[in-house]
Amino acid sequence: MSEKNNEKIHAPGLTREELEQIVSDLGEPKYRAAQIFEALQKCRLDDITEITNLPKPLREKLAEKLSTKNLTVESRYVSEDGTRRFLMKTADNFPVETVFIPTENRDTICFSSQSGCPLQCDFCLTARLGLLRNLTAGEIVEQIIIVLNDVYGAGAETPHGTNLVGMGAGEPFLNFENLLKALSIMSDERGLHIVPNRVTVSTAGVIPKIYELAKKEKRPQLAVSLSAADDELRNKLMPINKRWKIADLMEACKEFEKTLRRGEKFTFEYVMLGGVNDTDEHARQLANLLNRHGLEKVKVNLIPHNPAEQLDYHPPDHEQVERFKEILASKGVSAYIRRPRGRDIYAACGQLAAKTTPNLIQIENPNG
Ligand code: SF4
Repeated sequence: MSEKNNEKIHAPGLTREELEQIVSDLGEPKYRAAQIFEALQKCRLDDITEITNLPKPLREKLAEKLSTKNLTVESRYVSEDGTRRFLMKTADNFPVETVFIPTENRDTICFSSQSGCPLQCDFCLTARLGLLRNLTAGEIVEQIIIVLNDVYGAGAETPHGTNLVGMGAGEPFLNFENLLKALSIMSDERGLHIVPNRVTVSTAGVIPKIYELAKKEKRPQLAVSLSAADDELRNKLMPINKRWKIADLMEACKEFEKTLRRGEKFTFEYVMLGGVNDTDEHARQLANLLNRHGLEKVKVNLIPHNPAEQLDYHPPDHEQVERFKEILASKGVSAYIRRPRGRDIYAACGQLAAKTTPNLIQIENPNG
């Protein structure tokens, strides 16, 4: 799937420079491209004919050439904690899930990079879908535009900053080019202006791309999903480990760490599965692993598993999560416990699987 759909070009996936080329092909001056970009990205308009600072004939010509919508919201759920979960469909009918997580001072949007996911993490519902297809850069950007418009309305300023996390469906590093293009479009100061250090992208351990990311000057923050400190257990929980072993992953992380700027850290994520990887011994193993590889600028996010009826795992005891964290701290590893958000609407980590949940309150079908 390219940025072209029905012969129209999907405008949210265009950089300002690419828009300049399009307007110049139409014989228009360059500044028109900036106007279009601002209207679509900063004001988040989803209809080209509404860009009223453009002459009407130009709007009509552009509307013939560009599309603004590749995604349709099929349903939307709102959690009691304010989290919103969006089930969308691409123009060719593939599911896309996006989650909005508000906190007092900032919004976080968790976006998907693929429809489904080819990796087979055993504790993840999305894995059951398999890979359906990579999302285009425009489809990644459009998820953010749709969510912000749903929450604040098109054209409205957002009251506080937006953070992005690439932790929805898919393995972002298996869709690397489109991911980086989307992030670059969203960082443009004349558009959404979400700068790279407000973005965190999580990989299950696609090692070559960790090295590639380490070389980039403008890059998102890195999170590596680990969930086990020994190969035998990780092979079972995250089969990607059969291809890229923990020792090699640690080496890549060490190289990445060397490129961090002052004050920067990166994150290991550890999904805690009750009775599987959450014992005191597992905590010691994890701390020893990080210390043995000399990883110092890291923090560990402990993510208590979110229950899902189709999965054989259960959440860990709350006290054991605290103990796990203390053991890590006693060995010099800083760890944080992630508070689950949106569990009641299946929006929490590992729960995204295009599940339409008839027993939940579907507050609105925006298209219906
Ligand atoms: S945890 Fe992430 S990488 Fe693993 S199967 Fe689920 S979506 Fe894919």
